[in-house]
Amino acid sequence: MTVEEYRKRGKEMVDYIADYFLDIRSRRVFPDVQPGYMQALVPDRAPEEPNKWEDIFADVERVIMPGVTHWQSPRMHAYFPALTSYPSLLGDMLADAVSCLGFTWASSPACTELETIVMDWLGKMLELPESFLHGEKGSRSLGGGCIQTTASDCTFVTLLAARTDAIARYKAIHPDKDEAWINGRLIGYCSDQAHSSVEKAGLIGLVKMRFLPSDENLSLRGSTLQEAVSKDRERGFIPFYVCATLGTTGACAFDNLAEIGPVCRSEKLWLHLDAAYAGSAFICPEFRSWMAGIEFSDSFAFNPSKWLMVHFDCSAMWVKDARALHRTFNVEPLYLQHENSGAAIDYMHWQIALSRRFRALKLWFVLRSFGVSGLQRHIRRGVELAQMFENLVQADLRFEVTAPRWLGMVVFRLVGPNELTEALLKRLNKEGKVHMVPASLKGKYVIRFTVTSQFTLESDIEKDWITITDMASKILIEAGE
Ligand code: PLP
Repeated sequence: MTVEEYRKRGKEMVDYIADYFLDIRSRRVFPDVQPGYMQALVPDRAPEEPNKWEDIFADVERVIMPGVTHWQSPRMHAYFPALTSYPSLLGDMLADAVSCLGFTWASSPACTELETIVMDWLGKMLELPESFLHGEKGSRSLGGGCIQTTASDCTFVTLLAARTDAIARYKAIHPDKDEAWINGRLIGYCSDQAHSSVEKAGLIGLVKMRFLPSDENLSLRGSTLQEAVSKDRERGFIPFYVCATLGTTGACAFDNLAEIGPVCRSEKLWLHLDAAYAGSAFICPEFRSWMAGIEFSDSFAFNPSKWLMVHFDCSAMWVKDARALHRTFNVEPLYLQHENSGAAIDYMHWQIALSRRFRALKLWFVLRSFGVSGLQRHIRRGVELAQMFENLVQADLRFEVTAPRWLGMVVFRLVGPNELTEALLKRLNKEGKVHMVPASLKGKYVIRFTVTSQFTLESDIEKDWITITDMASKILIEAGE
């Protein structure tokens, strides 16, 4: 492709994307395809000779779009949001073009510098404790933030850092024990509502993870944690890590940080806060009460790539003391050393991989384009629309709202046996007009309805509710209810 053609095709692509968003309601949100659908549409090997751009571009609608789940559609209510926005797209377009890898400060100084700046901006927007911020040059704190790929990575990275510290602390008192012996006795904690990524972090970190029962509000309480830790110490385990969730995946419930925090402090447990979805809402002061007790935590993470219109990947992670990450991830071969090693931040010591993209650019573009007030408006709007949906559910006696709604997600079900709600969800997803996924809350099968899209209007919510109730009527008639 020549530079002239790139200019022409690039403009066409921008127009295609703009039209895609403008017409997104006309697309079926959940694709009607079967596994392997694409094989029949493409050759079985790469072309020997170059294809014409017109042919490649035409295949987007023919091959790709039929199998796309349209996450930006107002009809998309599954999972949590994975939003994008025009400033985010443009920021990443530039990052993709520059295509630098910011593993050390020297590998692309602007990449590291902008990341530390936007992470401090974002931390201040959430009113994180000062100790989580990098601070000014010359008076840098021990803590700070960085952008990781996913919330799963944040949990795993912090678990590994906590493991390193716990092993070192134990070994200092028991020098006769080797690292593997200590590792085999480490145990971490989370609630039975924690995301599966916490279980995975334990699995691949080779430490036991105990899933503690949440209370009737699906919240992990301090006394439950304290009791488990005491019992485990008696059994010979070495408690070292807690992952508390602010905004659980199943019901957007919140662990009781104000109670858990002091237990972690007195028991010397690393406290990580997984606020993957709900963290975006903390830019609004009225939603910050869930953060009470954050001063007890060692690390905090949320995904601007979920609700803040910075497209995937962008997980914001802050730590109080980055030296714990350095002790875990520090390898420094000669080819990665530079004359500012040690003086400047080298983010390669904060993560598992070496290479890292210039993700701060899209975050910077978004924060500046919307401003804090614009982003707050966007979050509040999502919450209002979820509230509207909740009111519709509550007004229909055939349904129940199964758990309190706090932010932009409503969990609901048909009154009666689980099979009714299961059938409703299955048929709705097959129909493809709306898309939602289920969760199991203490044995109850529920449907999660998340307001995701920035394009959602009241009329969309009303339309979705008609789609849902029409299908519910059919299901109930068929079931003889
Ligand atoms: N934690 C919570 C509470 C989540 O809801 C999710 C996903 O929705 C995750 C972690 C995993 O996020 P990621 O895909 O960024 O790893």
